[in-house]
Amino acid sequence: MTTARPQDLVVIGAGVVGMATALTLSDRGHRVTVVDSAAEPGRGTSFANGGQLSYSYTDALASPATLAQFPRLLLARDPAFRFHPRLDPDFLRWMLAFLRNGNGSSFHRNTLAGLALAVQSRSALHGLARRHRIDFAHATPGKIILYRSAKSFAAARAIAADKAVAGAEQTFVDADGAVTIEPMLASIRREIVGAIHTASEEVGDPYRFCIGAQAALAAGGGEVRCGVAIDRIDADGKRPTIVLDNSSRLGADRIILCAGMASVGLARTLGARLPIMPMKGYSITAAPGSAAPRVSVTDAANRVVFARLAGRMRIAGLADLGRRTADIEPGRLAALVASARAALPEAAEYGAVESSWAGLRPMTPDSLPITRPIAPGVIANTGHGALGWTYAAGSAERVAAIVEEGC
Ligand SMILES: Cc1cc2nc3c(=O)[nH]c(=O)nc-3n(C[C@H](O)[C@H](O)[C@H](O)COP(=O)(O)OP(=O)(O)OC[C@H]3O[C@@H](n4cnc5c(N)ncnc54)[C@H](O)[C@@H]3O)c2cc1C
Repeated sequence: MTTARPQDLVVIGAGVVGMATALTLSDRGHRVTVVDSAAEPGRGTSFANGGQLSYSYTDALASPATLAQFPRLLLARDPAFRFHPRLDPDFLRWMLAFLRNGNGSSFHRNTLAGLALAVQSRSALHGLARRHRIDFAHATPGKIILYRSAKSFAAARAIAADKAVAGAEQTFVDADGAVTIEPMLASIRREIVGAIHTASEEVGDPYRFCIGAQAALAAGGGEVRCGVAIDRIDADGKRPTIVLDNSSRLGADRIILCAGMASVGLARTLGARLPIMPMKGYSITAAPGSAAPRVSVTDAANRVVFARLAGRMRIAGLADLGRRTADIEPGRLAALVASARAALPEAAEYGAVESSWAGLRPMTPDSLPITRPIAPGVIANTGHGALGWTYAAGSAERVAAIVEEGC
């Protein structure tokens, strides 16, 4: 697929970002080795996320609406949000940059930049799925975003025209329209002020994508080495090199850093600073309930998302900013289940949850991933925040272009 000189490449991290990057580069004729400390691909933040491929809903987190809610969020009045401040310079720098991105014009710019990446990502993911026949429960159920307040619905409408020009497919409907699209919303019809429907939105299982991509990579001559932890990256010599925790070394023409939240520490070993803050979230997977939607649903007020994934309901939410460990905290898991019940009381068998999970979204202040060289021969592809599954294949293509331009 490329006329560029084939290169020896090492990708750090076998999450959705690393695996999409590795497969894209392998398809372009490069020799790719992926290295991950976990026992198999897809075990980090990619494991059990919301499953939504949210190509038309890329609204940046930093916005006038978020800043207006800040006092309430800081006081923990919103069950979906917790703030864990730290007195370290990285945290303060990140917060300042986040606040700077919260004005109307930055929100607008960041949202449209995310949309451009999402549009690229959709066709890139379709290409990978078609070429490699990866089975990851990929489907197009569409998505509906529910608003329970006139103010938040009006804010969503305000940017709609510009998003439409940039490629978003969004239809605005009232409560009756929402119930026509998804009859399982009938029991909450009275609470719905308005909704946005996008028939073309997709879902897919990110873990199954990572496992399928591993097989596809091997079929193309690439390799995933699991259970191998990287201690640091060395870019001082002729070739960039990763240094493993047993002190052995692996050099390459280029190294691509896709380690999610761990990218921050690995970049620091090169003297590079990546502005990424963890925002912890949770998911549950359960059998569909008596009023389980077929269309994916995002409830803006309860800040919870629902997707049918391979016959199960995947429900995700919560935003604990600054929380650095991915363990399941029982009180927060209970908060997710309570939000989900409040949003769609019969969507899932809440009393018989099959699995629970927590992960750290790698958030940048502008909600856009970092795809750029950070040292000679080392390129970052990280910081995908709340939309890493959506953006993975598009940012892989962008990084492939950087690899082939030389850096
Ligand atoms: C609750 C929740 C719901 C979400 N829902 C959605 C959604 O519906 N749609 C969407 O688009 N996005 C969603 N996201 C965001 C998405 O999951 C992330 O943006 C994405 O998974 C990040 O992928 P990644 O490959 O960068 O990181 P990861 O999946 O974390 O991969 C990083 C990999 O690096 C490896 N690694 C780390 N350190 C080292 C080291 N020192 N040496 C070797 N390997 C190392 C890890 O083992 C890991 O496998 C959600 C996130 C959460 C938490």
